[in-house]
Amino acid sequence: MSSSNSLRSLLGKSTLPSNEAKILLAFILEKHYQLPRSALLSKDDLELSPTALEDWMDLQSRRMSGEPIAYLLGKKGFYNIELKVDPGVLIPRPETELLVEIALAQLAKLSAPGRILDLGTGSGAITLAVAHNVPSAQITATDQSDEALMIAKQNATALGLIDRVEFRQGSWYEALADQTSFDIILSNPPYIANKDPHLSQGDLRFEPVSALTDGSTGLSCLETIISQAGHYLKPGGLLAVEHGFDQSEAVIGLMKKAKLEGAQVHKDLSGHNRCASARKSISK
Ligand code: GLN
Repeated sequence: MSSSNSLRSLLGKSTLPSNEAKILLAFILEKHYQLPRSALLSKDDLELSPTALEDWMDLQSRRMSGEPIAYLLGKKGFYNIELKVDPGVLIPRPETELLVEIALAQLAKLSAPGRILDLGTGSGAITLAVAHNVPSAQITATDQSDEALMIAKQNATALGLIDRVEFRQGSWYEALADQTSFDIILSNPPYIANKDPHLSQGDLRFEPVSALTDGSTGLSCLETIISQAGHYLKPGGLLAVEHGFDQSEAVIGLMKKAKLEGAQVHKDLSGHNRCASARKSISK
């Protein structure tokens, strides 16, 4: 009997880039055999069962047609937590970890437990990374999408954080009813312009379009969030938003127009201007 379905031979035959083939085959090994990734090498003569083989062929062809790895695995690491993801939510990006860092630095300066608002939480990435790392933080997380809120709640439950977050459905501040006086407002809103060619490339083709673009210039959701932030922040409270690499100037301009103070640009690990933060005046 030939060993054509051995791990070694399947990896050798795969038309995927080798790192992707390994990630997906490791996932099959864990799912069907409860084996760790290291088995790709240590048990490379293992023959996949017909069911596992079918699963592998399916994942391989879906990846070949462009489906994001995170959706194929159903999970994505973010900051120091792991999140369940599916096509109902944006895949958390490493650059968004910057918002978590800004929030953690601000929380460390507060004398009382911080009240945080996360607008458009998606999978719950920002909210749950903050909640996981700061046990005293009180967080309200919103999303317009019921599907996203369902996933965010599942993630909160899986991480043991469901009692620490208040989830609310609605568009930006409309989700809040009468809550105000937040120490920190965070948001990674849809900021890609509707004509941006990236929307029809790579992973983005499979992600929820409402989480990527505002259907207009890319600045309209940022404008809504920034222009009303003063009403929902405590005096001295901090607003921090993620934006496109070329939107920094416009976003800082919106913050100044909203009379927020100390507007600051934050660079991501690739050196792009990626987030902006500013404060509500202490005297108001
Ligand atoms: N950072 C994402 C991307 O460029 C966009 C996410 C968003 O619009 N908030 O792929």
